[in-house]
Amino acid sequence: MDYKTFYNFMYKLTCAFEKSCGRTDFISGLEAAFAKILRIDCVKIYLLDDFSYVLKDFEKPWENLADNEQNQKIQKVLNSFVGSKDSAKCDKDVIYMPVYENTKIVGLLEIALEREIETDNEFFEIAPLVQRQISYAVLNFKSGEKMKLNTKFYKTIRNIAKIIETQYELSYILPILGEMIDSFICEHLIYIFIKNKNKKEFKLVWPANIKDTKIYEYLEQLNSKSNVMLQRDGKVGIFPLVNEQKLLGAVVAYNPFDKLNENEINYLDEISKQASITIERALEYMKILKDATLDALTGLNNRHQFALRLREETASAKRQNAPLCCIMTDIDFFKKVNDTYGHAVGDCVLKNVAKTIKKELRENDIPSRYGGEEFAILLPYTTLDEATLVAQRLRRAIEKKKINIEEYNIQGVSQLSVTISVGVSAYDKTMKEPQLLYQNADKALYEAKESGRNKVVVFS
Ligand code: GH3
Ligand code: MG
Ligand code: MG
Repeated sequence: MDYKTFYNFMYKLTCAFEKSCGRTDFISGLEAAFAKILRIDCVKIYLLDDFSYVLKDFEKPWENLADNEQNQKIQKVLNSFVGSKDSAKCDKDVIYMPVYENTKIVGLLEIALEREIETDNEFFEIAPLVQRQISYAVLNFKSGEKMKLNTKFYKTIRNIAKIIETQYELSYILPILGEMIDSFICEHLIYIFIKNKNKKEFKLVWPANIKDTKIYEYLEQLNSKSNVMLQRDGKVGIFPLVNEQKLLGAVVAYNPFDKLNENEINYLDEISKQASITIERALEYMKILKDATLDALTGLNNRHQFALRLREETASAKRQNAPLCCIMTDIDFFKKVNDTYGHAVGDCVLKNVAKTIKKELRENDIPSRYGGEEFAILLPYTTLDEATLVAQRLRRAIEKKKINIEEYNIQGVSQLSVTISVGVSAYDKTMKEPQLLYQNADKALYEAKESGRNKVVVFS
């Protein structure tokens, strides 16, 4: 092989190792390098899984290879390298090379060619060097991935610990926990169950449903001393949520095809322990805050207080024959704020929206945080026309507001804006239940969402 071709090839190979930002990218880089010296069709790498020792496609490590002739052959070729000093073998139009970790063979590189190759092809002169280089690069790539995973893991743990600084209602915390764990373990479905205090049964709290009801039978085997429980050959992992010797619930990782590997089990175990602490502290907070009237994050009335004020205000409106209105608002696409910038920024947005709402209202108006990113406002002595004007003013004020997020150090983003959808309704003394007032506003809010968001709809 002439020097220039060899140099070109090695240069391309190095580029592939340095510049690839994903597994598919890495393989494409290899293909581009090999195309400099061979007429290739495609390149593939098969690696033994660290945990199960099963061969997997480097580009799809979450999938087992199909049990077919082709893959059995790959396994056979891999075995044939064990104990041999060969750096490459060819079989008609395919070249195979072993991937080493120190002295152990951990995988196989497969180069499919456009046509058959002769055993005296000059490629085989440089094969020992190529095989070594690729082995190093693959292992480097894998440990780089592991490091990234580690960083993500500690970030997840930190975020889970942080939720409690601003949140205490389990109905907000659990979905957020679920999303965080889910984004960390992408190849398995994640479920969160909470144990009913008095009854023994478990209730699925995240996501909304589960098809495989057999999971409930596994859960029944848990007790406060349980460790991680693996079922179905390791495809289902059950991680108890335990705090101070009380079984609170469980995180379940589920995949119909693939086992959890050792790393994932360790990570999930740690995350579940952190989640247990967060949940337990939230329960404690809830006990303390049972008599509280204000929401901890926004300083507005909490939901409990809203219900009380709703009863009082509707009764008073009826007695005095005075107008009373209700405004319900919900931030548009708020989930996207959390997903893009993290929950801390999400919380900052919530605080700012609450502040803006408060600023735009009169002294007598009663704003409350109704749920996660939903706010309910009662407007005593206010007609529907007046309330509609208030609602429109609110919508515009939020839309215009630039929320400063500099302190969160998000590259290139120092401020954010959000929009809200708004529903308005008026009290009518023929209403049997006070709840109807906000239910009507909620219906109008739903319509505002359905018809495009960032708008005000009046219930009619
Ligand atoms: P839509 O326009 O339809 O309202 O879309 P959306 O994304 O706002 O609606 P969705 O109800 O799907 O998402 C609300 C999100 O709010 C989900 C949840 O993670 C988040 N959330 C709820 N409470 C809190 C909280 O206290 N802090 C933070 N950061 N996020 C919260
Ligand atoms: Mg909502
Ligand atoms: Mg929303």
